Amino acid sequence: MSAKTERLYYHDSYLLNFDAEVVDRTEFNGKPAVALTRSAFYPTSGGQPFDVGTLNAVPVLDVAVEGDVVLHVTETPIEAETVQGRVNWMRRFDHMRHHSGQHILTRAFIEVADAETIGFHLSENSVTIDLNRGDLTPAKIDAAEDLANQIVSENRPVWSWFPEPDELANLPLRKISEKVTGAVRVVDIGGFDLTACGGTHVAHTAEIGLIKVLRADKKADTTRIEFRCGDRALADYREKNNLLNDLAAQFTTGYANLPDVLGKLRDENKDLSRALKAAREQLMAYEVETLWNHAYSEGRTPTIIQQVFEDRPSNELQQLASQLTTNYRGVVVLLGLAGEKSHLVFARSEDVNLDVVPLLKQALSQLGSERGGGRPNLAQGGGVPATREQIEAVLSEIEF
Ligand SMILES: [Zn+2]
Repeated sequence: MSAKTERLYYHDSYLLNFDAEVVDRTEFNGKPAVALTRSAFYPTSGGQPFDVGTLNAVPVLDVAVEGDVVLHVTETPIEAETVQGRVNWMRRFDHMRHHSGQHILTRAFIEVADAETIGFHLSENSVTIDLNRGDLTPAKIDAAEDLANQIVSENRPVWSWFPEPDELANLPLRKISEKVTGAVRVVDIGGFDLTACGGTHVAHTAEIGLIKVLRADKKADTTRIEFRCGDRALADYREKNNLLNDLAAQFTTGYANLPDVLGKLRDENKDLSRALKAAREQLMAYEVETLWNHAYSEGRTPTIIQQVFEDRPSNELQQLASQLTTNYRGVVVLLGLAGEKSHLVFARSEDVNLDVVPLLKQALSQLGSERGGGRPNLAQGGGVPATREQIEAVLSEIEF
């Protein structure tokens, strides 16, 4: 691979336009890629994603680093010997704000909770740091957030430089990556946080805007903190504010009353469910009695209770059959449910000497179903479409 790329963003995060010479052409993940003498494009590294933009108006799709070389992956091959590079500012600035905000939040958690950052992730959808403690209280998290926002509002200057080895040895750095070989870049957030970092940062902390922690997920001895800075924090606030206002309007209350209103609704729902269950049980007891009376009056022995239903849960048929065969003696129950997923339940009381399983299998095979089975005193199955008339025909042919 070609010689080292001069990284313009090391010295100026705000430099977006640059000229450079092409020093190598290659492929990266099947796409054309070029290496340049110098570049303002940030390659994916240190938890921060790559910049986008253009080289000679050709879109840059990805920027990667291989050794000391920055590779620009482009939509179509770059033929020219020299290029004009343009870095997309919206994405760069968003990354600068979040990366700088991460330094501040990381230091704030050290100051407030003695919690060190062991991971950083920045993408379009989420920004997180992982802390090496699993016992952070909400109050500690709020305190770290307050401290971070104080540093933002003080508009402290941010500096980065490459110290000489003897200066570097005496700097109280928070972190120095073991992967770094050669010159180490140091970033100082206005005397608040000093660390080794190769990323892009704002020049003054007020540019970061609001730093907002969204949630803290504990995992054993670590905590993942999700946060947003600047425009992303505003967008999040707007979305949640609109959501709360909409919800409050739906329940014709103020948003502060929503926990009370929803709590009452949840309790009412529980009471209603209980009342509905009791009413259903009463109704079923009445239905069981009616089915028995109707069948018994026909005078057959054993008493055959045969009925086809529509539009009801199949487990209610099983409940009916169980209650009929428990409450009454000398009874055989043949119940069917018509519809897209037909269902048959056959049962008999303990005193009747009959195995209902073969009867059920025979009836199911007439309906075209092989799904069913059970015990000699209760069997069920179905699952295929069947009309009321089809099920009535099948039940009327059963003999024992
Ligand atoms: Zn950084």
